[in-house]
Amino acid sequence: MAAHAEWRDDVTALLATQLAVELAQASGHRLHVLHLTSGLEADWLEGITSLPDDVKSDEAAIITTETLPQHLTFDETDVERVGTRLKMNPPIRYAKDRDRLWYHLKQGTIQCIATDHAPHTLEAKAAGFPTAPSGMPGVETSLAVMLTHAKNGSCSIEDVVRWMSTNVAECYNMIGKGRLEEGADGDVILVDMDTPVAVDDAHVWSRVGWSPFHGHELVGWTQVTVVNGIPVFERTEATGPKGRLLVEPGSVGQPIVMMPWS
Ligand SMILES: [Zn+2]
Repeated sequence: MAAHAEWRDDVTALLATQLAVELAQASGHRLHVLHLTSGLEADWLEGITSLPDDVKSDEAAIITTETLPQHLTFDETDVERVGTRLKMNPPIRYAKDRDRLWYHLKQGTIQCIATDHAPHTLEAKAAGFPTAPSGMPGVETSLAVMLTHAKNGSCSIEDVVRWMSTNVAECYNMIGKGRLEEGADGDVILVDMDTPVAVDDAHVWSRVGWSPFHGHELVGWTQVTVVNGIPVFERTEATGPKGRLLVEPGSVGQPIVMMPWS
C-alpha cells in the first residue's frame, strides 16, 4: 500500500494543477481544484487562490481549492496499519503534506473542505493492493472529524463553519446557503462537543457499511438536523449512536441553486 502514494506522486499532481491554473488564467475561466493533497501543490497555490469576493480585477480568473478530512487526519502510518480501506485518489500522503494542508487552510490558500464520498464495498476492498478500488465513504463522518480537530485545538469551531459552509456557498455561488440570516434557508444543526463516541462500522448509514474512521473516538456528532426549518434527523440516548430519520427521505428541502459566474 505504501507504493500507492509513491506511484501517484506529488510532482505529477503539481504539473496537472499548474496546467489547469495556466489554462484558467489564460481564458479567465472559473477553476476549482478538487481534493488538494500535497504540500507541494498547496505551497505553489499560495497567492493564486482566493475567495471569489477577494479577486481583484474583473478579468482575473476565480481560482479556489479544497482538501478533505481524511487528508487532514491520516498519514503514511495509518495507510501502513489500515491497508486498502485507505486506498483513494489522490492518495493519503505523508505527515509533512498533512501539516502543509493545515497551514494553508488557516492561511487561506485552501478555502473549503469537501468529502470525496466514494463508498466502495468491503468485498471489493478485500482484493488487496493494487486491485482494490480507490475511494472511501466520508460524508457522514466529515463534520465530526473536523469538530474533533477543533476540540483538540487544531482549529476553531468558527473555522470549521467557514470551511464547510460559508466558504463553500461562496465558492459555488449557492443561493440561500452558508449563512444564518433573514431570507436565507433555515438549515441548522445542533452538535454535542462533549461526548466522545467511537466510529463503528455497525452504525454507518451508507449501504457499504464501513468507515475509514472505524475505532476513532470523535466528538461533534450531530444531535438534530434541521432543513428548511423542519427537523429531519435526531441522535439521542433512545436512538443510539446511529440516530434516526424524522421524515420520509426526499420529502424536505429543495435542490441547491447555484448562480452562473458573470
Ligand atoms: Zn473525488
